Amino acid sequence: MSVSPLSSLTFPGTAAGLFVGGSWRPASDGGEFTTVDPANGRPLARVATASAADVDDAVAAAAEAFGPWAGVAAPGRARLLWRLADLIERDGDELARLETLDNGQPYGVARQVTVAGAAEHFRYFAGWVTKIEGSTAPLGNPEVFHYTRREPVGVCALITPWNFPLMIAAWKLAPALACGNTVVLKPAEQTPLTTLRLAGLVREAGFPGGVVNVVTGGPEVGRLLSRHPGVDKVSFTGSTEVGREILRASADDFRRVTLELGGKTPMIVARDADIDAAVAGCVQGALFNSGQVCAAYSRFYVDRARAAEFVDKVAAAAEGMRLGPGMDEATQMGPLVSEEHLGRVDGYVRAGVEQGATLVTGGGRAGGALEEGYFYHPTVFSGVTDDMTISRDEIFGPVIPVLTYDDPEEIVPRANDSRYGLAASVWTRDVATAHRMAAAIRAGAVFVNMPHTPDPAAPWGGFKASGLGREMGRYALDAYTETKGVFINLAEGA
Ligand code: NAD
Repeated sequence: MSVSPLSSLTFPGTAAGLFVGGSWRPASDGGEFTTVDPANGRPLARVATASAADVDDAVAAAAEAFGPWAGVAAPGRARLLWRLADLIERDGDELARLETLDNGQPYGVARQVTVAGAAEHFRYFAGWVTKIEGSTAPLGNPEVFHYTRREPVGVCALITPWNFPLMIAAWKLAPALACGNTVVLKPAEQTPLTTLRLAGLVREAGFPGGVVNVVTGGPEVGRLLSRHPGVDKVSFTGSTEVGREILRASADDFRRVTLELGGKTPMIVARDADIDAAVAGCVQGALFNSGQVCAAYSRFYVDRARAAEFVDKVAAAAEGMRLGPGMDEATQMGPLVSEEHLGRVDGYVRAGVEQGATLVTGGGRAGGALEEGYFYHPTVFSGVTDDMTISRDEIFGPVIPVLTYDDPEEIVPRANDSRYGLAASVWTRDVATAHRMAAAIRAGAVFVNMPHTPDPAAPWGGFKASGLGREMGRYALDAYTETKGVFINLAEGA
């Protein structure tokens, strides 16, 4: 297999290698897999499957680069992050096209959300590099001067999911590098292409070889990497089940772990809510990226007095949604990422019907011109109850289960009755209701009268089974540094 750095793609036929120590190479045992276009099921590119020896090499390259990289003066590290952001923007059209082909998301989303968000992340953390400060503390003994240092953790394994491959890589890579760590990135096997393209830009920006390495492959590669004795920290975004496995495996040598996991975001619509705004927020919050969003609004508690109007309007909006390939400008909703995932989403929809929910619209795979792709009709259920599987499990697809409530007092306990706690949304015109619910809901982010919209400056992460630790904002610096206290004896004659 001869490999390309993915700078000029021709599909199918491109072969993508591993990025280790600053250069491209095939897997040591020749292993490879194929990534497909979810809009038509056709092969896109052949990609190397890293062997255990390749993972060893990537970790060794990161370990070797760590000392020199951590020693680069802060302004120099900041300039490289800034340059990488510029290169992402320069190649934004191509990166967006790659993301659309590999993941299925509409090109406009890939260009304006994914690519723009990734570049912004590198700029935001470029600003932090020169502001990672320690502090002094007034100790009990005035003869001892104490100060803290924020030091990088070391070699970080960054493992990402398929739903926003480039953006989530940036969420991890930007703060990890800003704090002086070196990394081995492992993108999801369904969507490796933009991460590989990003590695090419890392090299062009001038990062020293070994500071960023990329290994591709499936769960086994993630497992090898996350348990590797040379890895000091794992930052993982993905399913709660795999997060649990990574956390367990970290216990033997106390490897640092940050986990961004699943969610089951409640959206609460109060009696006084602006229903048209809530409907628009529901459609955006639930169907953005075909519902394949960790914070997707995915259970809707609507005051019984407004429920019929809400369901009618949401169903009309869902039916009017234009499905199609992401590269088609008219497309509002792309395919699901894979045949396997479509089967999982459809299984949840079938369970909803069997358990007695009313299927208002959708509930099936799209046919006709779209039958080769993994397209699923936006689906609305009414008459849903708290115990149904569709109101408890993360579906990660375009499914809107609507529940009702009578008494505002009952709604927070019902919203909190979930193993997840990533996000929540409240729609009300009453400022007191908004603040009261925001305080009472057990979730890492509460959005009032708006769709879920993460921002580099705001912390992101979950309560309960939605994760451990926070990404973004100043909180990400905690995730990628160790704090050291230094005690200096000032006593005369010491
Ligand atoms: P997944 O857990 O199956 O895979 C995620 C990544 O982990 C992939 O790179 C995969 O190859 C790797 N992996 C799989 N098994 C592994 C193992 N045993 N050890 C180490 N690595 C392993 O998740 P997915 O299906 O790709 O993504 C969907 C999930 O991600 C959803 O649950 C979603 O909620 C979650 N997610 C969370 C956030 C957040 O910010 N909280 C953001 C996006 C997605």
